[in-house]
This record gives sequence, structure tokens and C-alpha cells, in this order.
Amino acid sequence: MIEVSSLTKKYGNFLAVDDVSFTINRGEVVGFLGPNGAGKSTIMNILTGYLSLTGGKVTVDGYDVLEQPEQAKRRIGYLPEIPPLYTDMTVLEYLYFIYDLKKVKFPKRMHIEEIVNLVKIKEVENRLIKTLSKGYKQRVGIAQALVGNPDVLILDEPTVGLDPKQIIEIRDLIARLGKNHTIILSSHILSEIQAVCERVIIINRGHLVADDTPTELSKNLSKDHSVIVRAVGEKEELTKILSSVKGVQKVLCLGKKEENSLDFVVTPEVDCDIRKEIAARLIERKRPLLVLTSNELTLEQVFMRLTYDADIEEGKK
Ligand code: ADP
Ligand code: MG
Repeated sequence: MIEVSSLTKKYGNFLAVDDVSFTINRGEVVGFLGPNGAGKSTIMNILTGYLSLTGGKVTVDGYDVLEQPEQAKRRIGYLPEIPPLYTDMTVLEYLYFIYDLKKVKFPKRMHIEEIVNLVKIKEVENRLIKTLSKGYKQRVGIAQALVGNPDVLILDEPTVGLDPKQIIEIRDLIARLGKNHTIILSSHILSEIQAVCERVIIINRGHLVADDTPTELSKNLSKDHSVIVRAVGEKEELTKILSSVKGVQKVLCLGKKEENSLDFVVTPEVDCDIRKEIAARLIERKRPLLVLTSNELTLEQVFMRLTYDADIEEGKK
């Protein structure tokens, strides 16, 4: 649905986006994750045709954003970081205005009515936008993106500045919209992305540093295949037993996490799975095994590692 190849963007001499490539398939809900200043909004502005690019190529449903901007834009609904709301209009006036602006062909009243119900703003449709809460304003912003029923929705930090209840409501709305749309949303907050996206693209200092499912990202980065073991027994005895397992390189006691038991991180010598051997040895020594899991990193740790490693590489830290 969206093809980005070798995208580069310079602001003057400043390289804000550096050789970024990715493909987004129809129906995917993808998260752009990265610290402030990473280049997320810049990429989104280019995808939606609001900003020119310095190098590379972007197509939406096969249409080049530079060569066929009308065609490409028609397929995208965009909620910019600062929603372009006309706050002296009522919600309905504003949506009708956007309808005219986008030269939509669907029956006007019915189309807007559908959107109003979908994003649940019926109860405020006759209120001036400036009198609405931030949560409602954000829904109106999403409603304007939906006018014309575009296949793709691009939402730049859709939950920024909202309170926890509003965040959950917007999240639910995005999840619902994800059933019928291709969605790209950006955030600098991990839990946001993890909650709604099936795929994460991590951007740091204008570079794409990862592109995978949240689960795979965590797995691939814990390359050491270390495991967490919780067993019943004394520290010295358990350390000895675990150390005696073939292939174990290091045993580190994490202390007591549960009554009468101890947790350990067990690291294998080579890139191998030692879970079976550990379980067998503990049972053989009659030490109850309570927990045995691979020590996967949380997405948060993955993110820290990726952005930190990239910074070291560039000699910035
Ligand atoms: P993000 O959305 O990830 O926070 P942006 O895309 O807004 O990041 O910005 C990426 C980088 O480009 C930042 O360092 C920012 O300061 C810079 N930048 C953004 N817009 C402009 C502009 N119009 N002129 C100059 N620099 C800009
Ligand atoms: Mg931004």
C-alpha cells in the first residue's frame, strides 16, 4: 500500500531523514516509534504530500506522491501533530467544510453522519470546537481524517496531551479503525505502540533502526538466549546444580521473588536453548522448578538498546 525507498530529507544542511526504506501492506497497523526529534513527523509529512523530499521515492497504492499527488493524497487521511481545527466552527460545520475541501463524492449528510457516529462525537456535533475537551478535539481531528473514506490513516502522536481515560478511548477508536484501514501512527511512548500496533518501525536520528513485530523485536535482541529459573532451595545448592548443566556459562542469582524460592538468570555458553537440560537436572535433584522462561527483553529494553547502540556508533554519547 505504501512503498518508501531510500527516503532522504534535508532541512538546509541538516539531514533529518537518512536513507529510510520500508513497505506497509494493506490493512496493517504500524507504529512509528522514536524519541523526540527522530524524524517521525517529517516522514509522515512526506507520506501525506505536505512536505517535499530531498531524495528517494514514496508511492501510495502505486501513485508517486511527487508525480501524482492528487491520486496519492486521496487515499490518505492525515491527523497532523497539531490538528488543523477551525475552532470557531461547530463540529458539523467543520466536517462539512472539510468535505467540500476534499471534494468528496459520497452523499454528504450520510457520509458525515457515519463518521460522527463512528468516532462517537454525536453528542457534541453542534458545539463550537473551541468549547470541546482535548479528547473530543482529537476525535474531531480523527473525524476530519476519515472524511472521504481514505484507505490509509496517518496519525501523528494521536494521544499526546490526553489524560489516561482519553488515551484509552482514542486507543480503542484506533483499534476499531484498524479493522478497515491501513494505519500508521507515531509515538515516543512505547506502551502506546505496543497496545495497538502489530508492527513497529523504530526511528532514531533519522535512521530506521528496527522493523518488526513487538514480539520478534524482543526475541531477536535477546541473542544470548539466557533463561530465568525460579526454583525451591538454598542459593549455593541451586547455583551448583544450575552450573553443572552442560552448556551453562553463567549463573546469576536474582534473589527471592516468591516465598521459599530463588530466581536465577542462567546464560548458556553458545547460542543454544538450555531449558530442557535445566528442567531435567532440577527434577533429577528433586528441586521443585516453579518458573522457567526465556529472558526476553521488554520492548522498552529493546528500544533503549537500539537507540543507545546507534548513539554510541555515531559517537554521540
Ligand atoms: P519527531 O516527529 O520524530 O519528533 P521531526 O520530524 O519533527 O521529529 O524532526 C526531526 C528533526 O528535524 C529534528 O531535529 C527537528 O529539529 C528537525 N526539523 C523538523 N522540522 C524542521 C524544519 N522545518 N526546519 C528545520 N529543521 C526541522
Ligand atoms: Mg513529531
